[in-house]
Amino acid sequence: MRILLASPYEIGRQPFALAHPAAVLRQAGHDVRCVDLSLGALPWDNLAEFGLIAVSVVMHTATRIAARLLPRIREHAPAARIVCYGLYGPAHTAALTALGADTVLGPECEDALLDFAGDVEGRPPEEPAARATFVVPDRRDLPDLRRYAQLIGPGDARKTVAFAETTRGCKHLCRHCPVVPVYRGRFRALPRDVVLADIHQQIERGATHVSFGDSDFLNGPAHAVRIAGALHEQWPHVTFDATIKISHICQHPDIIRRLAACGCVLITSAVESFDDAVLAHLAKGHTAADTFAAAAIVREAGVSLLPTFVPFTPWTTLDGYRELLLSIRDLGWVDTVAPIQLAIRLLVPAGSHLLDLPGFGRHLGAFAAEQFGFPWVHEDPRVDALQRAVQRRVEEADEKKETRRDTFGALWALAHGACGLAVPPLACPDAALPAFRLSEPWYCCAEPTTAQLAVADASA
Ligand code: SF4
Repeated sequence: MRILLASPYEIGRQPFALAHPAAVLRQAGHDVRCVDLSLGALPWDNLAEFGLIAVSVVMHTATRIAARLLPRIREHAPAARIVCYGLYGPAHTAALTALGADTVLGPECEDALLDFAGDVEGRPPEEPAARATFVVPDRRDLPDLRRYAQLIGPGDARKTVAFAETTRGCKHLCRHCPVVPVYRGRFRALPRDVVLADIHQQIERGATHVSFGDSDFLNGPAHAVRIAGALHEQWPHVTFDATIKISHICQHPDIIRRLAACGCVLITSAVESFDDAVLAHLAKGHTAADTFAAAAIVREAGVSLLPTFVPFTPWTTLDGYRELLLSIRDLGWVDTVAPIQLAIRLLVPAGSHLLDLPGFGRHLGAFAAEQFGFPWVHEDPRVDALQRAVQRRVEEADEKKETRRDTFGALWALAHGACGLAVPPLACPDAALPAFRLSEPWYCCAEPTTAQLAVADASA
């Protein structure tokens, strides 16, 4: 029996969610084919040859695209067992099942996939001792690393990027985060030798930069420092980037400097908002002042900071949005922030801890299965109108390949106009682009664009 693993989208990275289960299944003797749908199409003509088809739903955009494909997969492979797996699986079991999935698994899916594959083949269950909890991902049939997001450095120099994870889960409990309902404040470290072996195989395929995809690289600071040190010792020319929350940057300035010394050139951090009331609702564990402090720590370490945001929430005010743009300008981030970050609307998936917030329900409509979340309406319709205008403008800018500064200027005008204010000159220093950034600006918590969904439809 052949097994097909498909990934709709992993924000421009070679899909880890294909490479790791593929390794586990192949080690058990299964015949596995991987397809990254962001760079290729499903083998529609011979889909019926596969006895098990597993689609990764690691993030919101991937889940929305998977939803469009599942009924067609069912149509083309009526006898196949269809599985969805990944972070967004458990909260959306009912919706994914209604669309054609037979089984829905969470992110810790390898053992269950193994059982399911064995079951479909009629094999006896694997002995627990024979199970592989974490093995070196198998990337043999994934597209070349050069086809994925690249690191862009000074002078527009480009580096091929490897993707690795050192932990799974997260020890924090931010209310809006999709990791929280699944991991409930827990994380586990992956074996250092396995992480380094995975990096090694990608360096042998041309990578000169590693993007660490952990929810937060400093959940286990000692583990992170050991891996960064080993990476630097073995491959001193290789740089890396990681996601680190604002409060961790503020708590560990010494570690930020050590990471920089080991080749860290870029840190992604979820700033979300500059409004302390919004940050408290989201239980982010930092304040606007902390963001300014973290920006200084990272800058002094000589590392680029890539901030991400959730600007539109039920608590956002017109003035608050305008002040968000002011803070971005004051921090010199006009050329740093990907415009889509300024359009993101808070997602409320099933199981979200936001639902526990007293009074939050009054903002919500009924659960919308096709959107995999609860739609919400702002009490001030002008805020929703501004969000729609910002979203349209950002999509237009993406099509026109407009500069970030020009798009920011357009949003600056929209925000001031919405507040009934004259539009002041943007008046920010003529800063160059940040020293380092990734060429894929999308972020996992954004709604897919019309263009992304159109690609899914075309593929179907
Ligand atoms: S938002 Fe980041 S730090 Fe907060 S729970 Fe999610 S992964 Fe952890």
